[in-house]
Amino acid sequence: MRFTKITATIGPATSEPTTLERLIKSGVAVARLNFSHGSHESHEKVINTLHDIQKRKRVAIMLDTKGPEIRTGDVTQPLMIQKGDEIIFTSKPTGKEKLPVVKVDYDGLPGDVKQTKVILIDNGAIEFRVTSIKGDIVTAKALEPGKIGSRRHINIPGAFVSLPSFTKKDWSDIEFGIKHDVDFIATSFVRTGKDIKELKNFLKQHKSQIEVIAKIETQQSLDNLSDIIDEADGIMIARGDLGVETPYEEVPRIQDEIILECRKKGKPVIVATHMLESMIQYPMPTRAEVMDIAHAAMGQTDCTMLSGETAGGMYPFKCIDAMSKILDANEKIDCIETMLALDDEMSGHKTDTRYQQAMSASMLARNIEADAIIVITKHGRTARAVSNWRPLMPIFAFTDSESVARRLMLSWAVDPYCISFSADPEKTVNDALAYAKEQKLIRKDQTVVIVSDILSGKTAVSSIQIRKVL
Ligand code: ATP
Ligand code: MG
Ligand code: MG
Repeated sequence: MRFTKITATIGPATSEPTTLERLIKSGVAVARLNFSHGSHESHEKVINTLHDIQKRKRVAIMLDTKGPEIRTGDVTQPLMIQKGDEIIFTSKPTGKEKLPVVKVDYDGLPGDVKQTKVILIDNGAIEFRVTSIKGDIVTAKALEPGKIGSRRHINIPGAFVSLPSFTKKDWSDIEFGIKHDVDFIATSFVRTGKDIKELKNFLKQHKSQIEVIAKIETQQSLDNLSDIIDEADGIMIARGDLGVETPYEEVPRIQDEIILECRKKGKPVIVATHMLESMIQYPMPTRAEVMDIAHAAMGQTDCTMLSGETAGGMYPFKCIDAMSKILDANEKIDCIETMLALDDEMSGHKTDTRYQQAMSASMLARNIEADAIIVITKHGRTARAVSNWRPLMPIFAFTDSESVARRLMLSWAVDPYCISFSADPEKTVNDALAYAKEQKLIRKDQTVVIVSDILSGKTAVSSIQIRKVL
């Protein structure tokens, strides 16, 4: 069994129902929809297909917001750029310009680049130096050749983009997500823990169970990392923009630090962007990409992500297969000792019985070489707590809520199932065991560690049990 989960971005290459179903069944835990692209209509189509697939195969849905980012407009033909070319960036093209024009979706560009003078397209694929700013018109010179297609991302490193953390479009997309029962909202370019709190409150007001995954991709979000991890339900390390906002040579160390911080705080974490970038065009990963995925797996991230590789690439299935194999081959590292060493720093959890129970169950299961851990979990919290210790075995989580089960898809080694709970916890455990055996998750004579309530007299108490499968 592979423990590290895979998130795959769904786009034009993978939206067709039979393709999408095949993709999900090939090992995708979370399907990501990027709201920087597509329309509500096109996303609704994909979500409806995913809801249909969910009847046969569990998969969580993640809505990724556009956030306060700047993009170029839609074009029928990409604009070809030669080194030294001067072009105009403006949000209000008139058609009378004397130079080639790139439309941008943001009025504030002239003001925001005044000091910094650098415009990057597609995370640095082409760099422009600003030569003049007149009213709405920014003129800039290309330092490299390249091309600018539709909705290309614009970075203005060092400048503060004067857009709110959630734009009007974001709020409307978030409402769309609530209405369409998505499981996660990934927030682009958030800056503070307060941003996350604002969204969490909004979701609460709407009685939504959706969890918030904060994307770390700005310098400001790095400065506020600890607060953001506290407020969010999980973290995505969005390395594309992060490697522009902060020197790219720093990103590997930052990635490892964020993963460790998330594990100290028991929050799931996703490593994202460029993981198999070359496979957008080629059927084989570069060895450097293999190394990158292996590194993330060795750091025991909960999840790795594919972006353009599955959204628009030529080999979406080969990408899932390659990522699966690399994760599987490199993730199996016994790290409970490392976690115990961290235990002191996890002081916030010290007196938390759930934390202690999860640690003890994981240690116990490891020491007796159990075959699996079975967790009965109402809201998914105990399953996540066990997962956080990274015991090297499957964690079969049983909950009575389909949406809790879906959200658990993101967590390391957790294989979630939905059953109905009985008033008698012993019956629930036996139902879970019977289900696991019937589904061939466990076999006769195997040893499992069970984390669940039991009845003592008439009161339910927490327990950790060792059982042989009958
Ligand atoms: P981000 O910085 O948010 O990752 P991105 O532009 O890199 O933005 P990805 O989600 O990584 O976007 O997807 C890669 C590419 O796939 C996009 O640049 C876009 O061309 C295409 N794409 C993704 N989703 C869609 C969609 N729903 N509709 C059309 N094209 C899409
Ligand atoms: Mg984005
Ligand atoms: Mg991307």
